[in-house]
Amino acid sequence: MARRPGGYRPRRRGRKGRASGAPTAVAERPTDQVLELPAAIVVGTLAEAMKADPVEVIKQLMRVGIMATVNNVIDFETAATAATTMGYRVRRRDAGEADADGSAGDAGTEESRENYQPRPPVATILGHVDHGKTTLLDAIRETNVVGQEVGGITQHIGAYQVEYSDHPITFLDTPGHEAFTAMRARGAQATDVAILVVAADDGVMPQTREAIDHAKAAGVPIIVAVNKMDMPDADPERVKRQLTEHGLVAEDWGGDIIVVPVSAKTGTGIDDLLQNLLVTSEVLELAADPDRPAAGVVIEARLDKSRGPMATVLVQQGTLRVGDSLVAGDSWGRIKAMLNDAGRRVREAPPATPVAILGLSQLPEAGDPFMAVQDERDAKALVEARRRRNEPLGSAAVSLEAASSRIQSGEAKDLRIVLKCDVQGSIDAVKSVLASVSSEQTQVQILHAAAGTITDGDILLATASQAVVVGFNTRVEPGARALAEQHHIQVRLYDIIYQLSEDIERALHGMLEPVEREVADGRAIVRAIFSIGRRVKIAGCQVTDGRILRASHLRVRRNDELLHTGPITSLKRFKDDVREVGTGFECGIAMEGFADFLEDDTLEAFHMEIG
Ligand code: GDP
Repeated sequence: MARRPGGYRPRRRGRKGRASGAPTAVAERPTDQVLELPAAIVVGTLAEAMKADPVEVIKQLMRVGIMATVNNVIDFETAATAATTMGYRVRRRDAGEADADGSAGDAGTEESRENYQPRPPVATILGHVDHGKTTLLDAIRETNVVGQEVGGITQHIGAYQVEYSDHPITFLDTPGHEAFTAMRARGAQATDVAILVVAADDGVMPQTREAIDHAKAAGVPIIVAVNKMDMPDADPERVKRQLTEHGLVAEDWGGDIIVVPVSAKTGTGIDDLLQNLLVTSEVLELAADPDRPAAGVVIEARLDKSRGPMATVLVQQGTLRVGDSLVAGDSWGRIKAMLNDAGRRVREAPPATPVAILGLSQLPEAGDPFMAVQDERDAKALVEARRRRNEPLGSAAVSLEAASSRIQSGEAKDLRIVLKCDVQGSIDAVKSVLASVSSEQTQVQILHAAAGTITDGDILLATASQAVVVGFNTRVEPGARALAEQHHIQVRLYDIIYQLSEDIERALHGMLEPVEREVADGRAIVRAIFSIGRRVKIAGCQVTDGRILRASHLRVRRNDELLHTGPITSLKRFKDDVREVGTGFECGIAMEGFADFLEDDTLEAFHMEIG
């Protein structure tokens, strides 16, 4: 709202009103304000970011069944609910920017980067099977162990750090693009640089091509290691020629891709590879703030027979210390001990350092974000709030229809596609048809195109990049179908090219009719009936799973009989109207057009979503 000096305006309660703690109403929402929130935030800091009275925020939280104090940490979903009811539009801060110090909305600004210091790069090795990824990882590790660790017993913790010309470099120990993209599909980007291994005697193979596309979709720079140079039939020039066909043009061929000939077996070229890795990372100006509370990503986790849950984490921001309380995915705990990749106990881990941690309550999953929080109680509360939520809303479906409506509303300008076809000839045909339907305003972006069936890897790539999977004259592998359903990724199969191009063209013009699907919110059981006046009956319910939203529709079931389906007219906790009620909580529900509740009726809550 622009201020007009001199001109009189009646005072309205806007942002200023909130600063003094005045209650907010949805009608006054400052819709121009987008609040960027981290994965977790302290209640007081959230209030500060909204310039609101913390008491007001606490009240909003109580309305949705979360009991919190000003110093408690709440997760993104909870904070977003409170902020939305207070009139803010909310955006989740990217995983890479995750931070737990509660400083909302300042990630990535110059100010918040003040304390940033250079950090080591994190590299992942990708490439076709048997081209030497594991051998190369071992060779790098053996020849460049950090000085003081010589003699230490090598521990495979899922990542390791070497030191090359006084610079540490971190390598993720699970080679291959499947693990790389599976992490991205969970929202984590751990890798800064991808090393693409191509065997000099074998050349570019199908998984090489996949790896290239997956690395490109992630936007990470690629360095090519042409391996097995010791083989008599090694032909690095052929490899470079093949790479050119996939858009990677070597420096000596006039492009900007660094290609280093190596032999993981004899060790030749490895120095050169590491040197180039450092040069590439320098350009990226990788930096992090070692002074804030630690946050990062889980690399792997396993149950150690004697030590219990053990997780390897990569610290991305801050410094992780023994004694820190933390939340990792669904698990929480206080760090009892940390081990580095040489099996030595360490007390702290600065940015880009991988460490195995002990002390978590249960096993997190690879790709889960982790963050240090104030104390164990906070950690526990945060995880419980997350669990109560069951499946959070907002895991928006990716479909051609949804993309179409985003294009129509101007939110999106391109349509991302993973394309699988029966044969190479079909790929070329589909690609040229898709190029012809793209316009300057809206384009198809093909993240990966290959011949073959639709696999898990295709679905993960689509999930990580929010793309639709299109199959032409091909089929979906059974496991991939289940994965697609789990991640709400649409797979569209065609056997007539005209239909494929027509659908895509309509999507690009925002003309595909949206398809609505039902999304389950939660379930409640009627425990008591209250009458208000003669006709209105309130069902006193307990939410048994998920959550009931004010905006949900309900299906009333008695035994297995469906009695009624319709919207909620009132959702209350005690006397207050609320927007949602979580698992385990009691609430009062009134419905439109139905009042004949009986004890033990089941209420199924759902809403409709485009996709
Ligand atoms: P990955 O599947 O990509 O991890 O490949 P591996 O590291 O398991 O290597 C596959 C095979 O290639 C193994 O038998 C290795 O010993 C061999 N190999 C790996 N690097 C080299 C190399 O530089 N030269 C030769 N001659 N063989 C290699």
